[in-house]
Amino acid sequence: NRKVVLRGYIDRAPREDDMELVDGGDVALRVPGGAGAPTVLVKNLYLSCDPYMRGRMRDFHGSYIPPFKPGSPIEGFGVGRVIDSTHPGFSAGDCVSGMTGWEDYSLITKPEQLRKIHKSDIPLSYHLGLLGMPGFTAYVGFYEICSPKKGEFVFVSAASGAVGQIVGQLAKLHGCYVVGSAGTNQKALPSSRTHNIFQVELLKEKFGFDAAFNYKEEPDLAAALKRHFPEGIDIYFENVGGPMLDAVLLNMRIHGRIAVCGMVSQHGVTAPAGVHNLFSLVSKRIEMKGFIQSDYLHLFPQFVDDITKHYRDRKIAYVEDMSIGLKSGPAAFVGLFSGKNVGKQVVCVSQD
Ligand code: NDP
Repeated sequence: NRKVVLRGYIDRAPREDDMELVDGGDVALRVPGGAGAPTVLVKNLYLSCDPYMRGRMRDFHGSYIPPFKPGSPIEGFGVGRVIDSTHPGFSAGDCVSGMTGWEDYSLITKPEQLRKIHKSDIPLSYHLGLLGMPGFTAYVGFYEICSPKKGEFVFVSAASGAVGQIVGQLAKLHGCYVVGSAGTNQKALPSSRTHNIFQVELLKEKFGFDAAFNYKEEPDLAAALKRHFPEGIDIYFENVGGPMLDAVLLNMRIHGRIAVCGMVSQHGVTAPAGVHNLFSLVSKRIEMKGFIQSDYLHLFPQFVDDITKHYRDRKIAYVEDMSIGLKSGPAAFVGLFSGKNVGKQVVCVSQD
C-alpha cells in the first residue's frame, strides 16, 4: 500500500519535497474483524487537490480543520471503490466519495461521512469538482452569499479553477454579465495532452464568460477592472485576495456584495499584502462576507440535483486537470499555488 506522507510541518508555500511516496507494505483486503465500530476499506481511484490542504501542513491547531500528521498519509477528498465493509450502508463494489488518504487503499473509520455514488453517465472524478466540494462551494457562495440579481455585473477571480468556472457559469445562467481573471493566456500542459489550452479563451469559449483577462499582464489591475466594468461591479466572488481585492474595492458599485471564498495568493505568505481600500466598504455600503461551504450541507442534495440537470442539459461545462499516478500527487498539489492547473486538479490513482 503506497502512501504519500507529509514529511514535517511547514510555514511557507508548499514544495514537492515536503511530501514523499513511501511503501506502506502489503494491505489485507478485508476490514479488521472484532466488535469495533463499523469500517469500510476503500480502493482509492481519484484524489482531489484543494488549496485549503496547504493550511493543514502547518503546525496550527486553531483552524476549522486540524493539521495533518507528519508521517501519515495526506488526507483529502477522494473517490474510491469499496473492497470490504462492516457498515450496513456500504458493500463491496460500491463507489463512494468522501475524506480518504493519499494511498492505494484506505480504511475509513467514519463511514457515515462517505457518500455513495450512483453509477451514471457522469465521470467518477467529477464527484471531486463539479458535483463535489468545489462545485458546492460555488453554488452556496453564489446563491447564498452574493444575493444575485439578473443583469448584475459579476467579477470572478481564479475563474478557470475548480470553484471559479462553476461560479461564472451559474452567474451567466442567472442572467448576469460575467468577467473572469486567470493567470495565463496559455498554460504548459500535462504531458498526456498534445495541444495547448488558452486559459483566458477557455473562460469565454468553453464557460461562456462575457469577457476575461490575464491579471499577470495587467500593470494596473484597477484600470483593467474599470475597462471591463465601466459601470462598476455588483458582485465580486473573491478567490485570491491581495492586490486584486484592493483593485476590486475601488471598482465596486454602491450596495455591492463580496463573497470571500478564499485568498489563495495569501497562503503561506509571511508578510500578507496590505489591503488599502477597505474604506470603500463604508462609502459604497458594500457587504463583504466570508463563508465555509460545510456550513450549508443541508443544501447539498439540492445542489447535486440542480448541477446534474444543468450538466446534462449542457448548460454547464466542466474542465478538470488530471495527473496520473499517486506519485504525481505532490507536484499536482503544489502546482495549485502557481496556477499550473487548468480547471479542477485531480490525481488518478487507479481507474478500476
Ligand atoms: P483553483 O482550481 O482555482 O486553483 C487555484 C488557482 O488559484 C490557481 O490555478 C491559480 O490560478 C490561482 N492562484 C494561485 N496562486 C495565486 C496568486 N498568488 N495570485 C492569484 N491567483 C493565484 O482552486 P479552487 O477552485 O479549489 O479554490 C479557489 C479558492 O476557493 C481558493 O482560495 C480556495 O481556498 C477557496 N475555497 C474555499 C472554500 C470555502 O468553503 N470557503 C471551499 C473550497 C475552496 P491562476 O492561473 O488564475 O493564477
